[in-house]
Amino acid sequence: MNTTKFLLSENELPQTWYNIAADMPSPPPPPLHPGTQNPIGPEDLAPLFPMELILQEVSTDPTIPIPPEVLEALSLYRPTPLIRARRLEAALDTPAKIYFKYEGVSPTGSHKPNTAIAQAYYNHKEGVKRLITETGAGQWGSSLAFAAGLFGLECKVYMVRISYEQKPYRKALIETYGAEILPSPSPYTNAGRAILEKDPNSPGSLGIAISEAVEEAVGREDTKYSLGSVLNHVLLHQTVIGQEAQKQMAMTGDYPDVIIGCVGGGSNFAGLAFPFIREKINGKEIDFLAVEPASCPTLTKGELRYDFGDTAELTPLTQMYTLGHQFVPAAIHAGGLRYHGSAPLVSQLLKSGLIRAEAYTQLNTFDSALLFARTEGIVPAPESGHAIHAAIKTARQAREEGREKTILFNLSGHGYFDMSAYTNFLAGNLVDHALSDADVKENLAKLEALPV
Ligand SMILES: *Cc1c(COP(=O)(O)O)cnc(C)c1O
Repeated sequence: MNTTKFLLSENELPQTWYNIAADMPSPPPPPLHPGTQNPIGPEDLAPLFPMELILQEVSTDPTIPIPPEVLEALSLYRPTPLIRARRLEAALDTPAKIYFKYEGVSPTGSHKPNTAIAQAYYNHKEGVKRLITETGAGQWGSSLAFAAGLFGLECKVYMVRISYEQKPYRKALIETYGAEILPSPSPYTNAGRAILEKDPNSPGSLGIAISEAVEEAVGREDTKYSLGSVLNHVLLHQTVIGQEAQKQMAMTGDYPDVIIGCVGGGSNFAGLAFPFIREKINGKEIDFLAVEPASCPTLTKGELRYDFGDTAELTPLTQMYTLGHQFVPAAIHAGGLRYHGSAPLVSQLLKSGLIRAEAYTQLNTFDSALLFARTEGIVPAPESGHAIHAAIKTARQAREEGREKTILFNLSGHGYFDMSAYTNFLAGNLVDHALSDADVKENLAKLEALPV
């Protein structure tokens, strides 16, 4: 019988995180203080994050040990399976081999607990009592709510309003894990009130929700802020995915020619890709493809420059591909990909030519998600549908070229909380949004006063 699932035992869980900053030919420049615009030091971040995470943020050590308490919590669902998509291959009649790493087996259904657990642990260890965060589609909010509970922390979540309305069950899940949740923009913060004054019907955005969460965290002694993507330490925590995949690919006897992940802030892509990018830096030939929505084309149409992480300009300035921190993306169903910026590490790798990026429209990604569901059985998160679409495109191309090719992609999460999106797609009610060059230009023009 042909093997379908490549499984590792619990004692094969990676014992360290891999820090790509140690191996990058040119690491990103330092973040700048939002007020003074001077490079920031660890003490500037102390109101927001516990010191251990700040040290990870600036670390240049190639590996960082994973604490036993974190490993124990990760073992609730890790190692995750690597699966060969044989039925999808057959449906595509392709000579390509398609493998995917399945992060949807986590308690909340995505890769996000990998960092939520680590972040909750370090906050707990340093005596923090309360975590505050934002969430787009609800994946991060539910993951932090779950992880905060494991370590006895309170948790409060600002959820982007459009998703709050589209995804009532994510809200219910967050409450089930014992956290408090409210829609953003809200009338409870200066940042939220400013947006509502201009647009009482604002669908919200991650940028706005981050402003609200940061504002509240800075204002309270017992509270710290927690971010689910973009930052170096978040990407670091996700590298358990790629390290497991390296062992599992070795079990298959194949080696990936192309590695694919969808990109919102960049953490699931980084988690799978970074350990393999280390192999590319050391001479292996691998094509890395980061995939994003055409309605929020940060990597393919944005500019690499310093920008704020949030709408109200409270966060440090980081150098990243950005569409401008005022940009509010269209209300597509892949809510987790609606972010104006991209991780500085992923941005720098794109700039260095170590990875490339493509953008797809919503209907194409749902077509591919549906084919995946009907062949492999798992209903993918709309975000992951972007990675699936790239894998399917690559496999079709391999067929046209008559080339055997090994494709590896990250199935970052399942879509069982996104069934209203599938209902709308099946009823023909979804539309495509693509961002015009004029819109991109208009948003980027607002950044002119920022340092370059
Ligand atoms: C949050 C999320 C993403 C996007 O975030 P990244 O940090 O880019 O990974 C992608 N897929 C799923 C399932 C998510 O929940």
